[in-house]
Amino acid sequence: MTGYVVERLAGTTIAIIGGGAMGAALAYRLAQAGAQVTVVERRHPGSGTTGRSFAWINGFRKLPREYQQLNASGIREHESLRNELGGDWLHIDGGLFWMKDDDADAVSALHQAVRQMRDWGYRVDRVTSDIVGDLEPDLVLGASVSEVYICPSEGWVETVRMTQALLRAATDRYGARVIRSSVTSLTRSGSGVGGVALADGTELAADVVVNAAGPDAAQIAATAGASLPMRRQPGVLFVTEPAPMSLRHVVHSPECNLRPDGGGRVMIQREAFDTRVSDAPDASPDPAFAQEAMEHAARVAPALAGLRIEAVRVGARPMPLDGHPIAGFEPTVPGLYELVTHSGVTLCAVLARLVTEELCGGSVPDLELYRPDRFAVH
Ligand SMILES: Cc1cc2nc3c(=O)[nH]c(=O)nc-3n(C[C@H](O)[C@H](O)[C@H](O)COP(=O)(O)OP(=O)(O)OC[C@H]3O[C@@H](n4cnc5c(N)ncnc54)[C@H](O)[C@@H]3O)c2cc1C
Repeated sequence: MTGYVVERLAGTTIAIIGGGAMGAALAYRLAQAGAQVTVVERRHPGSGTTGRSFAWINGFRKLPREYQQLNASGIREHESLRNELGGDWLHIDGGLFWMKDDDADAVSALHQAVRQMRDWGYRVDRVTSDIVGDLEPDLVLGASVSEVYICPSEGWVETVRMTQALLRAATDRYGARVIRSSVTSLTRSGSGVGGVALADGTELAADVVVNAAGPDAAQIAATAGASLPMRRQPGVLFVTEPAPMSLRHVVHSPECNLRPDGGGRVMIQREAFDTRVSDAPDASPDPAFAQEAMEHAARVAPALAGLRIEAVRVGARPMPLDGHPIAGFEPTVPGLYELVTHSGVTLCAVLARLVTEELCGGSVPDLELYRPDRFAVH
């Protein structure tokens, strides 16, 4: 950030609703740019979707080109953040992908995706099964897999630790505040928003209110009469007990996706499972469901067979209706800035930088595709 930027935000008060990945990253950048930032979080930072995320940071298979490049920048921006904040919450060890040879449609789609990504300058390497054996000795590809690809720039994030690191730096280095309270509504000032009303009956005034409430953002926007075109899309993740195997990469196989989850644990995701869970935050799927997840995982990582599932995490993706971020001032409600996205773990660092540049008065063409009014029917 330049001195010019600091000058532009000095004296500006900004309230951010939500201490997830998005709110925390933005709080850090805005406070660094001189704004007086207050984050209002109803539970603890990272307790929303951010703490229930597969947290793969990736650009592979993201479309169209501008969105792919935003995601690729998102990965690089995480490395900048890690260099600034310190800590070991970021794991860039690469993402592995494969399909079964007999699934011709999936193989052809994979080939097309690989070509597309390379055309756009995104590195995807083909690796032999020997190399996979060296990289991940405890994984089994199976006889019907002859092609494996790796995206070396990809990885995963320990999201709650990242969120804490961001907020600690925002408060300790740049004077931001974090309040533990629920926002009950946006408050009016003239024709726009002048702050937020809190559950204890007090009000917090702000020049700008950023709605980073994740899956609850539409509810917040509605209190000022704005309609945010998004839905809550549930997803489920299973975490094993510490496993007698090594795993470094994020793995995408036809059976399921896997990644390390700290302390030797393995996280399991299978998209087809997501339709079987409800959006209730603490809904816990039955043991047979967990067993089924374990069986899929053990086909890729046999050392997982017979292990217990230690945790089932159900989260709601904050999903804009076209799947792409919503970032910008609400056109009908001055003072209200909407910031909602799926892939928010990948995108939080880059969106925080771009939104800060915009609030500092800069022109930010990279955000133009993602304005809230793109959904308006003209
Ligand atoms: C199963 C699953 C897998 C995923 N996998 C990936 C992935 O691999 N890669 C990736 O990049 N993304 C992934 N995502 C998406 C990603 O996790 C989200 O996009 C991201 O976490 C959103 O962050 P956020 O800060 O916007 O929302 P949240 O983390 O939900 O933060 C919003 C915060 O606002 C608070 N809040 C809400 N309402 C109020 C209120 N009224 N008052 C005060 N506080 C309030 C909440 O408590 C919460 O902490 C996944 C999501 C799920 C569910």
